[in-house]
Amino acid sequence: MKTALFPGSFDPVTNGHLDIVSRARAIFDRVIVGVAMNDDKSALFSIEERKEFLNAVYGGKDGIVVESFTGLLLNARRDFKATAVVRGLRAISDFEYEFQMAMMNRELDKEFETVFLMASPDYSFVSSRMIKQIVMLGGDVAMFVPEIVAQALEEKRKNRKIKE
Ligand code: ADP
Repeated sequence: MKTALFPGSFDPVTNGHLDIVSRARAIFDRVIVGVAMNDDKSALFSIEERKEFLNAVYGGKDGIVVESFTGLLLNARRDFKATAVVRGLRAISDFEYEFQMAMMNRELDKEFETVFLMASPDYSFVSSRMIKQIVMLGGDVAMFVPEIVAQALEEKRKNRKIKE
């Protein structure tokens, strides 16, 4: 049984992430979507909220599991018994950081394998950060995120968590 770990901040999850998950699931028997818990005070959504959105999309779906993890990714990969870590590549700008991470992780753990999936052209320009910026400026992001996320973003904007 081949398991992939797809780690990220998912603050919040976008259709670009979902595309990577479903494509990874076509290759691996099981995909663990791993929400990284770090001390990022600038995160808009709590870990619980981020997991809730992912579970709303994937709850009960065969072979897709939502988890969270702290600390080093290489330890999480081992703990989850994942064969590989999956990352999405949107642009050349993603490449340098991802390349460095993959090399470092393999240096520290010889069994660490990273699998890169190229972003679909439909979503290559979608990032959680840009989604938040668009909502902040009063724009509509419904076509880029699951409905539950669009609603939650709107709530945040109304409550002025995202300032206009
Ligand atoms: P991180 O903070 O680890 O970059 P993100 O939630 O921003 O976390 O992204 C998690 C993973 O999803 C990364 O590998 C990122 O490149 C990928 N990703 C994000 N948005 C997209 C997208 N629109 N298309 C494809 N991959 C994406």
